Amino acid sequence: MSNRVYINGKLLPKEQAVVSVFDHGFLYGDGVFEGIRVYHGRVFLLREHVDRLYESARAIRLEIPMTPDQMIQAVNETVQANGIQEGYVRLVISRGAGGLGLDIRKTSNPQVIVIADSITLYPAKVYEEGLKLVTASTIRNHSAALSPRIKSLNYLNNILARIEGTDAGCEEALMLNHKGEVAECTGDNIFIISKGVLKTPSADAGILEGITRNAVLNLAREAGIPVQECSMVRHDIFIADECFLTGTAAEIVPVVSLDGRPIGNGKPGPLTHKLLKLFQQLTEKP
Ligand code: PMP
Repeated sequence: MSNRVYINGKLLPKEQAVVSVFDHGFLYGDGVFEGIRVYHGRVFLLREHVDRLYESARAIRLEIPMTPDQMIQAVNETVQANGIQEGYVRLVISRGAGGLGLDIRKTSNPQVIVIADSITLYPAKVYEEGLKLVTASTIRNHSAALSPRIKSLNYLNNILARIEGTDAGCEEALMLNHKGEVAECTGDNIFIISKGVLKTPSADAGILEGITRNAVLNLAREAGIPVQECSMVRHDIFIADECFLTGTAAEIVPVVSLDGRPIGNGKPGPLTHKLLKLFQQLTEKP
């Protein structure tokens, strides 16, 4: 459990780590965040997450009041202060307190918050038996409205789709884009394996470019597995040999059905297992 939270340069007991009700992060979801894993006391792919955080902030014209290197230090300090060996870091930058209007010029003091805590994982059964997916009727945000590449504090789009998943008895839901193409799931990227080729929607499908997604693409290339980032529709998933999701918390989780239709033989596939093994080697002790 997280006891001390980093907030604006200080490590405070969690009860004292508070933000204003006038903060635009609270009022409007105006801010950015990252979720990061800690394995064996080491923060995994921290530089990559911090880079994406600064890119998200830049996209919403939010100036983070410290350098990326200082941010990396703050994360490491918080993890150490809480004695986290296996856990999760939530890095949040909110716009700061302002008036009740939208004008960002009236806000001040962006809040920099690092929470280091334990992690909630999918149940082990999901990795053994695979996940069932349902397609949400809520489409992924249109890139011209709110780019999914921005990891913003406004997750209502994903939450609404996730509710549809829960209502259908699924742990995750597939989201399509405005063109009806496969984009991603509510908190994970999606991959299929088709005739030995690993395929995933490209960034222009309107997705968050997952750090785990990129790590898996690199692992596959190194292992000599052909890789394609391409446009994909639901049909491609129905006829795929294997399917899996990637995400910081999920790592690699097999998917065995979509909308009640089995994918491949309806069981987690061999290439999915191989990639999960390779991924787990990355997270092992050096
Ligand atoms: N897509 C969405 C919408 C996400 O929120 C996330 C992170 N939970 C991902 C994909 C996976 O990204 P990452 O591998 O960086 O965790």
